[in-house]
Amino acid sequence: MRLVVFGPQGAGKGTQGAMLAEKYGIPDIATGDIFRWAISGGTALGLQVKEYVESGSLVPDELTIQVVLERLNADDCLNGWLLDGFPRSIAQAEALDSMLSESGDSMDAALVIEVPEDVSVRRLQGRRVCSKCGRNYHVDVPPARDWICDSCGGEVVERTDDHEERKIRHRLALYHATTEPLKEYYAESGLLREIDGLGSPDEVFARIVEVL
Ligand code: AMP
Repeated sequence: MRLVVFGPQGAGKGTQGAMLAEKYGIPDIATGDIFRWAISGGTALGLQVKEYVESGSLVPDELTIQVVLERLNADDCLNGWLLDGFPRSIAQAEALDSMLSESGDSMDAALVIEVPEDVSVRRLQGRRVCSKCGRNYHVDVPPARDWICDSCGGEVVERTDDHEERKIRHRLALYHATTEPLKEYYAESGLLREIDGLGSPDEVFARIVEVL
């Protein structure tokens, strides 16, 4: 199974991505996590992307494409993958398509999970994320013990780009301008599946599994 998941911030891509990856036994590749881990590890990639990620801007296409294509070359991607947060622009989608046609593989679906803007903002303002494994929580649904991740024991923190409403709005504006045109792109190839992101994680997951 080869899946792409996109949608506005707070739509539930991370949560659904993790559930889908587990169901289909494929790696869950989230570019935002890759970048945040690089930043906290102080790697060369981290230094290159820090300013973009922390200000809520998009990392340049060329660098993002290089990171993702390299990751997709790993052995665990041989039988499929789920991309959460990539592509985020037409140029990125075209790069992914050329890689697929070179390897003779094809994608199964491009899922767009959608919620109204006020829901995005409310979800992001309360969002907390495990700094180690990337699992998402919310102030209303915290981990069992004192902001220690239930899955891996990592520290659960607030993302710097979720801290200010101004940054959240900036990221949503970038989504509409740069990422939303992917709906038309994937509709043309018949891969687009539109999912209503309102409701509990289990309800949304059931909708996705049904269309897949
Ligand atoms: P996310 O965790 O998906 O919200 O991503 C966090 C941040 O990482 C974004 O606000 C961007 O700065 C950067 N980022 C993640 N994926 C991409 C991408 N496909 N293209 C450009 N920047 C990205």
